[in-house]
Amino acid sequence: MKGWKSMDLERHDFELADLVERIKENDTRLIALQVPEGLKMQALEMMDSIETETSAKVVLAADPCYGACDLVHDKMQRMGVELVAHMGHSQMNIDSGMPTQFIPVIYDGDPEMGAVIPFLEEHRTIARNRLENPVETTADQDGREKFEDMVGRVAPLTDSKLGLVGSIQHLHLLPDFKKRLEDAGYDVTIPVGGARLTFPGQVLGCNYSGDDPTVGHYLFLGSGDFHPIGLVLHTGKPLAMLDPYSGEASEMGRERIERILRQRSGLIMSCMDKQRFAILIGEKPGQMRRTLALRMKRLLEKQGKKGYLLALEHIGPDLIDFYPVDAYVNTACPRIAIDDAVRYGKPLITPYELEVALGEKKWEHGYQFDEIP
Ligand code: SF4
Repeated sequence: MKGWKSMDLERHDFELADLVERIKENDTRLIALQVPEGLKMQALEMMDSIETETSAKVVLAADPCYGACDLVHDKMQRMGVELVAHMGHSQMNIDSGMPTQFIPVIYDGDPEMGAVIPFLEEHRTIARNRLENPVETTADQDGREKFEDMVGRVAPLTDSKLGLVGSIQHLHLLPDFKKRLEDAGYDVTIPVGGARLTFPGQVLGCNYSGDDPTVGHYLFLGSGDFHPIGLVLHTGKPLAMLDPYSGEASEMGRERIERILRQRSGLIMSCMDKQRFAILIGEKPGQMRRTLALRMKRLLEKQGKKGYLLALEHIGPDLIDFYPVDAYVNTACPRIAIDDAVRYGKPLITPYELEVALGEKKWEHGYQFDEIP
């Protein structure tokens, strides 16, 4: 998960008290500390503070870490680590095999709401129009054209509410923002998602399960476009953004999403006649989708094609581009295919996109975001 800003570090509040207490209670001797990329500059300071307040020694798990899907797992047990302190992400529905203490990080910026209101006004009008004039399910022949045009058009709305969401370090702002937006005349809901999400209003780059037909448009509190891109790809609904770090308001432009969909469409088409695929399986505890990978292999074999299963902890072009295959199907973090495809020498597609390329799924249902439930 991305979205951490390394600027304004002094305004991030790290709650180490529970961790210190747990270390003392259990007389823990060695812990592993895991922090998101944007906060790594402060890691040594945190290690100092834990080692000063307790008798434990701290090892920094210094590999890249983008989410709670990427928990330090049993490899560190061999090093003698007894407890993992994972900072800045919340617990998921996974078991890493290691005792883990999640440490919340809160950013104390509270942006003015005024700048985002013009976007919300426009988006509410779009949602209301859509509610009153629902678009009918597209026929097969024009499905592909629509697919490249916009996502989500066939999802029926039952209301035009504003869905209020945010990235984890800003979630504490949501209740107050809900009240302010309601005072400004909006009908607001804070969506509650599935088991991969811990808090109301939370979104992950791979999970927007709080979406429902009552939500007509969204406001995202956070920085960067990582979560907004996924949310719009998943829902097809208008999205305004308010950045608590800068106070700036913007929207996820339709052109941007269309560009991504055109790229996805091009990759799908380029895979239609490919014969040899590498199916990537992520080894990180919250990214491992072995059953899905095996299903993709069976689908390929059914059509007389080859699917080679490759398991990796980290996925990057230098680790796979040399294999003699024609394309990759990624079952690890869904965002590797969506955000990083251009870095690879061969087409890199999601499992759903492979199903479309093989003719197992049809265009007319719109783009299906690869969500990890
Ligand atoms: S799987 Fe990817 S998008 Fe999902 S939490 Fe992990 S890094 Fe983020």
